[in-house]
Amino acid sequence: MRVRILGSAAGGGSPQWNCRCAVCALAWAGDSRVPWRTQCSTAVSADGERWVLLNASPDLRQQILENPPLRPARDGRHSPIAAVVVTNADVDHVAGLLTLREGQKLTVAAPPQVLAQIDANPIFGVLNRELVAFRPLRPGEPQEIAGLEVTAFPVAAKVPLWMEGTADALAAEGTGLMIESAGRRVAHVTACAEVTDELRRRVAGSDLLLFDGTLWRDDELVRAGLGAKTGRRMGHVPIAGAGGALEAWRDVPVGRRLFLHVNNTNPVLVAGSPERLAVQDAGWDVAADGMEITL
Ligand SMILES: [Zn+2]
Repeated sequence: MRVRILGSAAGGGSPQWNCRCAVCALAWAGDSRVPWRTQCSTAVSADGERWVLLNASPDLRQQILENPPLRPARDGRHSPIAAVVVTNADVDHVAGLLTLREGQKLTVAAPPQVLAQIDANPIFGVLNRELVAFRPLRPGEPQEIAGLEVTAFPVAAKVPLWMEGTADALAAEGTGLMIESAGRRVAHVTACAEVTDELRRRVAGSDLLLFDGTLWRDDELVRAGLGAKTGRRMGHVPIAGAGGALEAWRDVPVGRRLFLHVNNTNPVLVAGSPERLAVQDAGWDVAADGMEITL
């Protein structure tokens, strides 16, 4: 199984178009410790021919240009992208579907409520449903997608920002993914408000964990003067602190662990920073665009 990180940053990317926080300022200056990152998406392949995207970011076209395995390989119309698995209807997870609209056969798999949210938005009518199959991915029911076995499972999360204040906002449940091929397992949990015992049990023994690295500390945006919400309020457990990801995953056996979906304010984006070193000391690393892992 090949796992390729297309984009490692959270919504907005790094640097973010309208931000000069401490980390973005370094990125804008071209500091080599802070390579630019596109918005979160991962491509997985069982055979190196057909690739499954985990979420479709607004940067998808750029990600296809920068990742040769995703470029068309046959004459005429062709794409190695066989399917997109969508974990929630956040703008940074679905906007890339609009990039895949040029009459290409494709499967879009997502939990039923996420498919309904996509279906309810007329802009996604650009996906020709005679070619694009919408496939419900029900929690706990493994599905074969382009040679991979994909199982969705519920995680503590929150609804997309644009749905806050609607009746559906109470149905706040996020989606993690377990992806298996030839006895190898990848756990993908990039929006998680709490690491529960159930989640730890489910992920234990995986060969790779891609986990929510949005914020270093819970009050990061508040302290930077960039927002009023804590990480947990936004559905993201912080990396550091009591109940944070480093503590919560410490004793769980996993082959390799990477933080993904890292917000542009997060100091772990700066190579060599005390926060990056703390993450590395704890056996983690920070995903980077273009990184490929073979399992
Ligand atoms: Zn910033």
